[in-house]
Amino acid sequence: MNAVTTFVRGASRLFLDSLLPPQCLSCDGIVDTPGNLCADCFSKFTFITPPCCERCGIPFEGAIIDDLLCGACVREPPTFTRARAAFIYDAQSRGLVLKLKHADRTDTIVHLARWLQRAGADLVKSCDVIVPVPLHRWRLVTRSYNQAALLANALGKYTGKPVVPDALARIKATPSQGNLNRTARHRNVARAFAVKRTKAITDKRVLLIDDVLTTGATADACAHTLLAAGATTVDVLVLARVPTPGSSME
Ligand SMILES: [Zn+2]
Ligand SMILES: [Zn+2]
Repeated sequence: MNAVTTFVRGASRLFLDSLLPPQCLSCDGIVDTPGNLCADCFSKFTFITPPCCERCGIPFEGAIIDDLLCGACVREPPTFTRARAAFIYDAQSRGLVLKLKHADRTDTIVHLARWLQRAGADLVKSCDVIVPVPLHRWRLVTRSYNQAALLANALGKYTGKPVVPDALARIKATPSQGNLNRTARHRNVARAFAVKRTKAITDKRVLLIDDVLTTGATADACAHTLLAAGATTVDVLVLARVPTPGSSME
């Protein structure tokens, strides 16, 4: 789909949205105000709230004191400083995430930027620039757009923080991560990225945006590349994350 078609579809959807009652972001049921989940979806989504691992943001069960790290971060600390997610990536939320990946539902992005901001308020506040995880060019062709870049742009617009959409490039097409274990995934994405806009990230606190965090291998590889190119710190903010490190639902 080319840019004009995307624009026309987007514009006609905006027009239709003004005529039709607002729909749930996940199931398309009717809701009172645009950009919300219906009561049924809301009750099934697992939004992430404290307490969670200070480093990777994985939620802890029960009451635990703040500033605690999960076992995985103690054993093998990630390259990024902190990661946060709005909700758990599970059977319920997968539909919403897949819509962003594979369907023409870019209109929901603006609402999801609000969720990102809420989940990562501290990270947004302390960052200098927002950078999306890039897609490889052939994936850009098959999917028409990079949902991480759309999220990054929407978050930038919502928060007033500068976005550098092309700061990172994928220099190696990584095979789909779906069937790989944690070690294989890390190997798969190592040296897969390059910084294209060095000046824009040098001495900057970077906030990296993606749609889903699974093993953290992609985020880690991006963080490694950004830090090697002179970024001060790299935080990661995503819509959804798997409930336990290393589990896979892509
Ligand atoms: Zn719903
Ligand atoms: Zn952790």
